[in-house]
Amino acid sequence: MTEKKAQPSDFDWNDLGFEYHDLPYRYRAYYKDGKWSAGGLETSSTLPIHEAATGLHYGQNIFEGLKAYRRKDGGVNLFRPDMNAARIQRSADRLLMAEFPQEQFVEALKEVVKANQDFVPPYGTGATLYLRPFQIGNGPVVGVHPADEYVFEVYATPVGAYYKGGLTPTAYVTNSYDRAAHGGTGQAKAGGNYAASMLPGKEAHEAGYSDVVYLDPRLHENIEELGSANFFGITKDGRFLTPKSPSILPSVTKYSLLAIAEEMGLQPEETTISINDLDQFAEAGAMGTAAVISPVGSITHNGKKHVFYSETEVGPWTQKLYDRLTAIQNGDQPGPEGWVVDVPLQ
Ligand SMILES: *Cc1c(COP(=O)(O)O)cnc(C)c1O
Repeated sequence: MTEKKAQPSDFDWNDLGFEYHDLPYRYRAYYKDGKWSAGGLETSSTLPIHEAATGLHYGQNIFEGLKAYRRKDGGVNLFRPDMNAARIQRSADRLLMAEFPQEQFVEALKEVVKANQDFVPPYGTGATLYLRPFQIGNGPVVGVHPADEYVFEVYATPVGAYYKGGLTPTAYVTNSYDRAAHGGTGQAKAGGNYAASMLPGKEAHEAGYSDVVYLDPRLHENIEELGSANFFGITKDGRFLTPKSPSILPSVTKYSLLAIAEEMGLQPEETTISINDLDQFAEAGAMGTAAVISPVGSITHNGKKHVFYSETEVGPWTQKLYDRLTAIQNGDQPGPEGWVVDVPLQ
């Protein structure tokens, strides 16, 4: 099979979506006989997967998502890759998969960025090189038990700025679906959670909303997640609140914004947030790597629409938090120790 690889000249960096492009290199490592291979770059975008792989039949697959940012000086930053390295190990633990070593994880990211460095979009475009580490159970397994073999990969694809004309609020809606069960796999970035979210997401889109507000699976009362992003609300008295729950995915963006909110004089807190207590918030947003922050214009629950700051304009705290975090990621402003990791390009 011949594969046509992307060329840097194929891209208009100012007009990129969130799509897959077949770049020259990806990193792969293989787990067999109880240990990981040294790992290295490969050119084929097709993986060798056994027909009886647990990754295909029983959902033994986990992933991560992070970005490489071009700095003004031409260098490239990763943002807190150690957090993703630790999180994919926790996901592996939950799904009884072999843990990929954290140092090797960060090295793999650096190798993929370096090898595809001409595809890291220029500074100032808002575009980035999206990195997708993932791991799947492989090898012949018929019964429901964990694989003996695993494939770990990191591929990369250039993606555009999420908001081309500034942060724009969007509308969200609750429905009766659950994203993850209490005691289930909500804390893991496991493929099955996303398969389960496609139908609720489609129904929300068809009803004119950008995504679903998932409520807690036990009471259907407290906010859990917004689509595949974490929620925050900023109260009128200056508290930055985000849900605390065992069934949400611990977002790197969230932990970063909790620290930045504190730096800005807001009072950060992970706590229970009732869907019936939205009046306390002056502003609200969704947090995740893809958009950093998506301002939440409104949430519709039981047919009643609650508007936050504005349905058309971003609130001042939300804008400030976004500006500060993106400035750290791009290397325009220094951030807390260890947040930004330089990728050697030579
Ligand atoms: C990946 C993800 C997020 C965002 O996490 P980041 O580390 O900030 O990108 C939030 N919720 C869900 C369900 C996710 O899968």
